[in-house]
Amino acid sequence: MPQYTPPLRDMQFVMHEVLDVVPALRELPAHADVDADLINQVCEEAGKFCAEVLFPINLSGDSEGCHYDPASRAVTTPKGYKEAWAQYVEAGWPLLTAAPEYGGQGLPHLVGSAVHEMENAANQAWTMYPGLTQGVVELLSAHGSKAQKDLYLPKLASGQWTGTMCLTEPHCGTDLGLIRTKAEPQDGGSYKLAGQKIFISSGEHDLAENIIHMVLAKLPGAPEGSKGISLFVVPKFLPDASGNKGQGNGIFCSGIEHKMGIHGNSTCQITLDGATGWLVGEPNKGLAAMFVMMNGARLGVGMQSLGLTEVAYQNALAYAKDRLQMRSLTGPKAPEQPADPIIVHPDVRRMLLTARAWAEGGRFLAYWVALMLDQAHLHPDEDVRKDADDLVALLTPIVKAFITDNGFAATNECMQVFGGHGYIHEWGMEQYVRDARINMIYEGTNTIQALDLIGRKVLMDNGAKLKKFGKIVAAFVEAEGVSEAMQEFVNPLADLGDKVQKLTMELAMKSMQNREEVGAAAVPYLRVVGHLVFAYGFARMAKAAQDKLAQGAADQTFYQAKLQTARFYFARLYPESAAAIRMARSGAKALMDTEAVFA
Ligand SMILES: Cc1cc2nc3c(=O)[nH]c(=O)nc-3n(C[C@H](O)[C@H](O)[C@H](O)COP(=O)(O)OP(=O)(O)OC[C@H]3O[C@@H](n4cnc5c(N)ncnc54)[C@H](O)[C@@H]3O)c2cc1C
Repeated sequence: MPQYTPPLRDMQFVMHEVLDVVPALRELPAHADVDADLINQVCEEAGKFCAEVLFPINLSGDSEGCHYDPASRAVTTPKGYKEAWAQYVEAGWPLLTAAPEYGGQGLPHLVGSAVHEMENAANQAWTMYPGLTQGVVELLSAHGSKAQKDLYLPKLASGQWTGTMCLTEPHCGTDLGLIRTKAEPQDGGSYKLAGQKIFISSGEHDLAENIIHMVLAKLPGAPEGSKGISLFVVPKFLPDASGNKGQGNGIFCSGIEHKMGIHGNSTCQITLDGATGWLVGEPNKGLAAMFVMMNGARLGVGMQSLGLTEVAYQNALAYAKDRLQMRSLTGPKAPEQPADPIIVHPDVRRMLLTARAWAEGGRFLAYWVALMLDQAHLHPDEDVRKDADDLVALLTPIVKAFITDNGFAATNECMQVFGGHGYIHEWGMEQYVRDARINMIYEGTNTIQALDLIGRKVLMDNGAKLKKFGKIVAAFVEAEGVSEAMQEFVNPLADLGDKVQKLTMELAMKSMQNREEVGAAAVPYLRVVGHLVFAYGFARMAKAAQDKLAQGAADQTFYQAKLQTARFYFARLYPESAAAIRMARSGAKALMDTEAVFA
C-alpha cells in the first residue's frame, strides 16, 4: 500500500525561506495580519486531513470508480467519498480562501494552493469535486450579478452545493466556437437551454444536495464562432423563493465515461433538455468570462501534477531504500544483506532525483504564481498589480503544461523504480501514472497551452510580459553572479536567459513570413521557457540554502539536499533546453512539407 506524508518542511522552505511570503502578503490590506505561524498551522491541519481522510480512499476509489444508474440518472461515488466530503464541509475547509462576505475565511490564495497540492497528492479524483466548485465561486464572484452572488456563493463556498464547467460537446473541445447548445429567452428573464455536453467533471454525484453548472451556449442570432458564446448558470435543482434547493431542472446526467484514470471523479455526459438557466455577464461575452474559471483551473491542474509527483516520489524513495537487488558497482554497500538496496544504483538515483527535482521546481513555480495572484488582486499599488497580473498570465501556461508534462514523466519514472511491482495495482504507482495523464489533456491540451504562451502571451504583446520576467532573472543574475559559490547555478541561468531572448526574436521574425512557424515551434518553445523558469527557481532555492548553511542553521542535511537537487537539475534536466531550442528553431518545413507521408 502506498504512503503519503505532507511535505510541510519543503512547503515552508519555499514559502518562507525562498519567497519570503509574509512581508509580501502583509502589503495587501486584506492580509495585513497574516503570519508564518498561521500559514504553517493551516497547512499542518490540512495535511492531516489529506493524509488521514483523503489518502486512504484513493486506491480503493480508483478500483471501485463511480456508478451510474440509468433509471434514476444518479451517480454514486466510491465508498468513503461522501463521508470525506461531509468531514471536509464540517471542518470548514471549502471556506479557506472564500470571501468573508460569503462566509469565507478570506485567507490568501497562496495558502489555498499549498493545501490544494496536498489534497491532490492524497486523492486527485476526489479533489476535483471541491476544485471545480472553487472555480465556480471565482467565476460568479467576477461576473455574476449581485442577486446571483447572493444566491449561489454562500452555498458553493461552504460546500453545501458544488459546481461544474460545461464547455465541451461531442464535436468540439478545443474549438469552442463550434458549440451547438442553444439558449432561448423565456418569460421572467431566464433562458431555456437545450444541447449535449460531454466529459463534464463532477457533473453528477452524491456528495452534495445541488450542482450548479456553468454552461456555454449560443443565443438566437449570435455571431458565428467564439464571438457568439454566452455563459449561463444552470442549477440541477432550481432554487426556491428562499434560495434553497427546489424542484428539478431539465439538466441531467445521461451517462458516465469509463476512462484511463481519475476513476473516482465522475466524467459525465450532461443533457440539457429545456433546462432553465440565467445569463451570467453580457450576451456573447461568455468565453471571456469563462476564462476566469479556465485560468484558475489551469493553475489547479498544475497543482494536481505537483501533488502526484510528490506522492509518487515519496513511495519510490521508500521502495528504493528497501528493495534489495544486485550489488553496487563499487562493491557491497550492505554486506550484511544478500544484495544492496536498489538506491545504490546510479540510474535508480537518476529516476528518484528526476521526480524530486520536478516536484521541488514545480512547488517553487506554483507557489510563486499563487503569491503573485494575491498581489494581482489585492495590492494597493496599481503598477504592482499590473506587473503581477502580467507575470501570472505569462506563467499560467507553464504551470499547466510544464508541470503536467514533468508530472507524467516523474510518475512514470517512479513506477519504473518499482520494476514489475510498479505495474501492479496494489502498489499504487500505476494509478499515479494513469491519473497524471489526463492533466496534459484537459483544461486546454498542452499543445494549446504552448500556443497560448508563444502566441498570446509572448508574440502578441511584442514580448513585453517575457521582458518583465527577463528583468527579474537579470536582476538576480547581477546580484548573485559575483558570488563564487553561486556560479554553477547563475551561469547556466544567464546563458539560457540570453538564448530565450534570441530564440523569441528569431521566431517573431519567422512568424511574420509564415504563421505555421509559430505552431511548429510552440511545444519545444514552452519547454525552453519552462526550463528558464525552473533554472531561476533552482538558482533562488540554491541561494537560500547556501545562506542557511553559511549561517550554520539547524537541519544542515535539508539544505545540503537542496543544493544537491539543484545540481542534479542543472546537470541532468536543464540540458533538455538545448535540444528543445534546436527543435524550436528547426522550422515548419519538416512538419508541413510532408504530403507524401500522409498521402
Ligand atoms: C477526464 C476528462 C475530464 C474533462 N473535464 C471537463 C470538464 O469538466 N468540462 C469541460 O468542458 N470539458 C472537460 N473535458 C474536456 C477536455 O477539456 C477536452 O477533451 C480537451 O480540451 C480537448 O478537446 P477534445 O477532446 O475535443 O479534443 P480536440 O479539440 O478534438 O483536439 C484533438 C487534438 O488536436 C489538437 N489540436 C486541436 N486544435 C489544435 C490547434 N489549433 N493546433 C494544434 N493542435 C490542435 C489538440 O491539442 C488534441 O491533441 C474533460 C476531458 C476528460 C477526458
